[in-house]
Parts: sequence; structure tokens; C-alpha cells
Amino acid sequence: MRPAPVPGTAAGSKNSLDVARETYRSISLYAPNRAPASIDLSDNTNLWGVPPAALRAISGTVSSAITRYPALYAVDLKCAIADYVGVSPDMVATGCGSDDVLDSTIRAFGNPGDIVAYPDPSFAMIPLFAKMNGLLGLPIPLTRNNDADASGYLAANAAISYLCSPNNPTGASFARATIEQVVSGVSGIVIIDEAYADFAAWNCLDLIAHFPRVVITRTMSKAFGLAGLRVGYAIGDPSVVAEIEKSRGPYKVSGIAQRASVAALTDDRAWVEQHVRDAINNRGRLAQCLLEIGLAPLPSDSNFILVPVANAIGWDTHLRERGIAVRPFTALPHIGDALRISIGPWPMLQKCIDALGELLRESLG
Ligand code: PMP
Repeated sequence: MRPAPVPGTAAGSKNSLDVARETYRSISLYAPNRAPASIDLSDNTNLWGVPPAALRAISGTVSSAITRYPALYAVDLKCAIADYVGVSPDMVATGCGSDDVLDSTIRAFGNPGDIVAYPDPSFAMIPLFAKMNGLLGLPIPLTRNNDADASGYLAANAAISYLCSPNNPTGASFARATIEQVVSGVSGIVIIDEAYADFAAWNCLDLIAHFPRVVITRTMSKAFGLAGLRVGYAIGDPSVVAEIEKSRGPYKVSGIAQRASVAALTDDRAWVEQHVRDAINNRGRLAQCLLEIGLAPLPSDSNFILVPVANAIGWDTHLRERGIAVRPFTALPHIGDALRISIGPWPMLQKCIDALGELLRESLG
């Protein structure tokens, strides 16, 4: 239903709300606090820096990479990703971040009015992508141990079932048996978001061969240190990938982002692997230190840790006053308030631990 005309506007004239889509009125801009902080542990990017080969590729960019359009569907990048992942290039679709790939996948396989089932809590953009594409988001609460609830997915049997493993913001992978139950029990597309799979001991790639309705999405923004270039990708059966590419459209990855990503995927795998190992080591060390100061971090297979606190907004403000940014979450089901802390080089994490310890002493004292 269109809203009543705003008093004072001429009959027949249109203001922006008259012409806006109804669904969009309940959508606000995605706007986490991104105020600069000297130690930014808020967005799970690679805090060790940029793969050196990517930097070299950018500085050697030829002017035609700027004056001309990039490759339509980023074919060189698809080949480099396919080689890295171990699949054929027709099983890869790229996009402007995995955000774009997720959005395109939802649009390609969801008719308006269809359901997108997603775990709650999980990646905040999924219900927005559902709405923006005219679909209905259906949150499926996590179980008490923060696993996906297979029975909820099976009951929904949605056109699109979204899983995120390892899950953001909880950090741990869903149980393999749960994922398999969902994948084999629903009749629609299953998206498995593996943005953080580089930091986990296992992933779901092998499922694609058995279940052609499975799409795995990954990103160059986390382990590969290229968040600013906005590159993500989907891996799936060629017939599924072709639909995602139609929905995504041409020219979505800039020439510079394509070149830098290809360079990192080809020449800097050892660099990436080293910093993934660093992140995993520091993740264990941070969890131990948080336990020692009296907090109870959740288990994580990602490059971040979620730690429940009494008052996430208050603690976040306290940390920001000390130049440290983390991501606060309030009233998460089964968890309550919590802070999500990205893993980076140890001196950054030590400052965060010190500030948290100080806050705990103040609150007890
Ligand atoms: N999926 C998950 C689970 C994420 O946490 C993020 C980013 N925070 C994304 C997808 C999107 O990442 P990008 O668009 O940078 O690839």
C-alpha cells in the first residue's frame, strides 16, 4: 500500500517516498561503527597486510586497465581461483566481494515471495539481500551449542537455504553431519558461505560433486588481505554458476582487482598460508588469555573470537576510548551481549587484552 500524500505537496506530485518500494522502508543502510581506531579489530580483515605480489601487480598497472572496461566475467581470475581451489574454471563465478556473489545467487534462484532460510545469528546481510530481491528471510535459531538447526531447515524446505560455516559472529563451524542433513534434505539451492574457511580445519567443497544444488561462496577479503579491492567468488556446478553469472551481470570486478587477485593467488600462496598459521596460533593464545582474565570466549575456527560480556555497547565504548575497535553484538540468542575480536599480530591483541583486563578490574572494584 502506498502511503497517504505528504500534506503540502501538490496533488499528483511525487516525493521520494511515494515512489520507493514498500519493502525498502524497513531497510536502513548497513552502517557498523567504522570510525578510525589506532587498533582496528572490528572487521576480520588480514591485519598482517597485503600480499606483496598483489601490491606489485597494482603498481605495475597499465593505463588500459583503467581507461578500458575490464574482462566481462573476469576469465583470468576465474582460472586462477579454479587452480587454487582445484576445480574447473566453469565452476567459478566471481563478484564485487562475496556480498555481490551472495546477492546474485539469491536473485538467480529465488522467485519473488520465496523463502531464504538463514541461521540466527549469522551474517547480517543475508536478510537484507533476501528483502532487496523481493524474497522473505526466515531466521532459523541456532541450537544451544551454536550449531545450525537441521530440523528447522528441513521444515522450511526453502527455495534458498543459507548456511555459514564457520559462522559469523559465533566463530565455529557447523557440524558436518548437520550440513549434510540440510543439503540432502531440502529441495532448493543451499548456499554454504565459507568466508572464513581458510582458518578452519575442513570445508565443504567435496559436497558439490554429490549435490549439484550446493553453492559455496568465498572471499579474497579475509585470508588474502584484499578487502579493499572487493573480490569474492562462488564455486558450484557449471549449470548453477552460469545462472549466478547471468544474475551478477558483466564488469563487476575491476581490472586492477582482477590483476592483484590473480597475482596473490598465483605467487603469494605461501605468504597467505603463513599468515593463516599466524592467525590460528594467535587465536589459541588469545582464547587462553581471555580465559585467564575471567572471560569465556566461544570456540572459533575463524580469524576472530566471540566473547560474551555483560554490556557490549559499554565495553565497546571503553575500548574505543583506548583506541581499540571491536564489533559489539547485543542480546544474541543463547549468548547475550558479546564482543567479536579479529585476530591480528600479537602486540595488537595484547593491547586489547590489557584494556579488557582493566575494564574487568574497574567493574569488579
Ligand atoms: N560472508 C561472511 C560470513 C562475512 O563475514 C562477510 C564479511 N564480513 C562476507 C560474507 C562478505 O565479505 P566480502 O563481501 O568482503 O567478500
